[in-house]
Amino acid sequence: MKFVADAMLGRLTRWLRMLGQDVEYFKQLEDSELLDIARNEHRTLLTRDMELYQRATAKGIQAYYLEGKSEPEKLAELDIRFEIPLKIDMEKSRCPICNSKIESVPKEQVKDKLKTNTFANYDSFWRCPKCGKMYWQGAHWGRIRDTLEKAEEILRKNKSAYFSM
Ligand SMILES: [Zn+2]
Repeated sequence: MKFVADAMLGRLTRWLRMLGQDVEYFKQLEDSELLDIARNEHRTLLTRDMELYQRATAKGIQAYYLEGKSEPEKLAELDIRFEIPLKIDMEKSRCPICNSKIESVPKEQVKDKLKTNTFANYDSFWRCPKCGKMYWQGAHWGRIRDTLEKAEEILRKNKSAYFSM
């Protein structure tokens, strides 16, 4: 399953990439270009734009219209529709910035690239081979987990309400 997200879904794109999904995203792109990418690369278009959604489906392009407003709502919705697991497995994660698969790097190799206390406090590190960005499960990890827990909670509470397709 591969996706292309519309310009309004930058945050969701980063979430989905962390969750291991292959999501293309461009800040500035004409709707027609977005539709071309979806068709040519067999990507499902994710959008919050009803008109664009309708244009896509009229052309036989796979598209999904997101109803959720918050990130947890959107993630819960996608879990139901596409069975996207809401657990981050760093071995499967993609770089939130550029969509490449991140790779685990031995701690000794990253020493001079990190602040001393980051290096001292964490043992597992990942790097994006394309853009070079480093990742570790730092202080922000609690917030990431909170959002995913909220999504799980929404799933449990009103799973049926999201079956609107
Ligand atoms: Zn990257």
